[in-house]
Amino acid sequence: MTGRILIVDDMDSNIRVLSAKLEAEYYDVLIANSGADAILTARQEQPDLILLDVMMPVMDGFETCRQLKKDPITQHIPVVMVTALDQQKDRVDGLQAGADDFLSKPIDDIALFARVRSLLRLNSVMNELRLRDASGRPEGATAAIASLPKSAGGRILVVEESERYGLRIAEKLGEPYSCQVVTDQRAAAELAEQDFDLVLINLATKEFDGLRLCANVRAKEASRQMPILCMINPEERERSVRALDIGANDILERPVERFELRARVRTLLERRFYTEQLRGNLDQSLELAFTDQLTGLFNRRHLDNRLKELSNRASQGAETGVVLMIDIDHFKNINDTWGHQAGDAILQQIAKQIRSSFRAIDISCRYGGEEFVILMPRADLQSAKAGADRFRKAIGGFEFPVEPDGKTIRITVSGGLAVLGADETGEQALARADAALYHAKKNGRNRMIAATKKSEINQVAS
Ligand code: GH3
Ligand code: MG
Ligand code: MG
Repeated sequence: MTGRILIVDDMDSNIRVLSAKLEAEYYDVLIANSGADAILTARQEQPDLILLDVMMPVMDGFETCRQLKKDPITQHIPVVMVTALDQQKDRVDGLQAGADDFLSKPIDDIALFARVRSLLRLNSVMNELRLRDASGRPEGATAAIASLPKSAGGRILVVEESERYGLRIAEKLGEPYSCQVVTDQRAAAELAEQDFDLVLINLATKEFDGLRLCANVRAKEASRQMPILCMINPEERERSVRALDIGANDILERPVERFELRARVRTLLERRFYTEQLRGNLDQSLELAFTDQLTGLFNRRHLDNRLKELSNRASQGAETGVVLMIDIDHFKNINDTWGHQAGDAILQQIAKQIRSSFRAIDISCRYGGEEFVILMPRADLQSAKAGADRFRKAIGGFEFPVEPDGKTIRITVSGGLAVLGADETGEQALARADAALYHAKKNGRNRMIAATKKSEINQVAS
């Protein structure tokens, strides 16, 4: 994966070395010589990643990072701090400033590219989600950047070969997290599919293969999105690189320092929370695009799509189905007598009955006003007609309450059915169902009539 990387350093020689390495791997490199320059360039150029030197005159790396993370225009860009010394205090300060990761000078190539790849991967997923989220919004509306409430905890699965050490980790994490310690690799893989928010895996173990566990967690559908934080011994660089390549989200060096542990866990949870929110927004806008607001049934747009699919399959002889069009009898009278609101409430009740009357694979839509269409894949006319009549009778037997004085009224429905023909479009089949419905109305309402081919109407006794 290529990407645009902003290098921030006050020393030209450092910049030259780093940019040569990155350019050799086909990354686009941008350069800034100071904190202020970095902020400006980040705002204008929107790089995919920032490599930020800690030691700079005027504004140091920590302050630069704080400013980048405060600004809505730059806060989503991952920041890797480059520290001269591998000092715990620098890491802690960096995390507090909002840094996503660290590299120590002199920069080790393997570590550099592993960090860069894993952060670019994450960033591209987030960007994709953000774009799609923004395109679903009305013009001018921007996404509120969600942030995990400060008090929010999470369920953490701690995978350790020694239970005692696992419990020590759990203790370091402390409130508001709740931890479960597991010492068996297979049990860990199964637990990771359950209700946890993050998995913490010790890679420095003899009893089990932590890398394999990382791969398992990533491979399974239920745990694919699970944040993975790995613990390694500082001398095992290679292993942390492997872990990041396999899909671990972050690395923590042992011995584990309490503040760093908590900060990394919190950052991962925050990212997860943010991506879930974006995903949720997307699902919601997709759902809104295809559902009818009043009844919660599918809308006409969805029906059109599905009808097209089904009739294509029917014309290939692959599968057939039945379309049923339903219309409420004398609905105008109900509105006129009891008001529009009472009418709406009845539409909702009828939708509820539709949901419980037809099969799970049937596609129930509000076609418009007081008309509904049920698309029944793989159904034959006889069973579809039987289902339609059961629904009709259920409606006919129901006492619909009309407010305010607790009165109830009776309602009937009429319908027309048509089998999807191999030699016609979905629209044509729907038109035949509509014609059959028209006959049901003309023949006294409260009945379901099936159309035969070529618009002949075949009245089946109701
Ligand atoms: P028929 O038995 O011939 O179908 O008679 P009808 O009165 O049901 O037929 P018509 O199509 O003339 O009237 C449909 C009425 O449905 C008109 C409108 O007032 C009402 N209607 C359409 N959409 C809504 C809605 O969303 N809410 C409410 N409350 N009424 C609606
Ligand atoms: Mg009607
Ligand atoms: Mg009507």
